Amino acid sequence: MYPRRTEASRNPKRDPGGTFRHRAMYHATAMTKRPSMRPTLVAALALLGCAEPMDPPAARPPVDGEAALAHVHTQLAFGPRIPGTPGHSAQLRWMLARLDSLAPEVVADTFPYVTTGGDSLTLTNVVARFRPDATRRILLLTHWDTRPTSDEAADPADRDTPLPGANDGGSGTAVLMELARVLAEQAPPLGVDLLFVDGEDYGPTTADMFLGARRYAETLPDEGRPIYGVLLDMVGDRDPRFPPEATSVEFAPIVVRKVWQAARRMGYAEYFPERAVGPLGDDHIPLLEAGLPTVDVVDFSYGPGNAWWHTPDDTADKLSATTLKMVGEVMAELIYSGG
Ligand SMILES: [Zn+2]
Repeated sequence: MYPRRTEASRNPKRDPGGTFRHRAMYHATAMTKRPSMRPTLVAALALLGCAEPMDPPAARPPVDGEAALAHVHTQLAFGPRIPGTPGHSAQLRWMLARLDSLAPEVVADTFPYVTTGGDSLTLTNVVARFRPDATRRILLLTHWDTRPTSDEAADPADRDTPLPGANDGGSGTAVLMELARVLAEQAPPLGVDLLFVDGEDYGPTTADMFLGARRYAETLPDEGRPIYGVLLDMVGDRDPRFPPEATSVEFAPIVVRKVWQAARRMGYAEYFPERAVGPLGDDHIPLLEAGLPTVDVVDFSYGPGNAWWHTPDDTADKLSATTLKMVGEVMAELIYSGG
């Protein structure tokens, strides 16, 4: 994730303006796209209107928060999952082996990308498809890569070190891996695509971020296209709060309502407040621009004053199995109530 917030003032020397101008431009782009987005969005929303949740809901299987937390530890043991590093390769092998054992169809899309700084990257998006033949399907996504630099570290000496990525990268991946087990054990009432995007956090600027989501958006076929998407990012904080994100509210309001209503039905209204925050640059933006209504479920405040975000403090002790279970249960409620 990449908030429009105050790191410019926290870190003025670190970033002499390019990043922030670019970031502002990125959001401006998202906003000025509105007229061209509208026809596709209207069509997509009409689709959603025809696809109200089925009644009665299917039984919702339990979600194991401890298993999800164990998936965070597994990922941290690989080391940072930066494209081109051994940890990245090890994590990809782990995801593919596990997903192959759980999902009827797993697609790995490997593609090259040259950064604005001239780095040649090999990136891989992975999709695990449950009920692959179902025409009515939804998408849950998260990024699996981790950021190469701890840009927000208080000590300048730490800023060139990779962040561990327990919450940022690890948590969303852990929840989707646990949901893969749930979906394998009990068939969902509609198709579900679990998408693990690469290159979300490469950076340092948004010019070289959201790479896997852009790739997915560019290659999204009409056939088998999900009716909407839900992005999970930073979903493991032991002190969680998931307010609706402003761009999601503006461009995918029906999906926001579905997710936050599911949270309320589960008794989690306290952690899913209704007042919107943001906007935030994240993987949902390329999908929205491609006409796929997608919302970002993201914790805007990780540690006191967001002090653990993009720092070496993004470690597993800051996470809780209870939070991972809660987010997994909200997704399970969404799925098994019919989407
Ligand atoms: Zn990040």
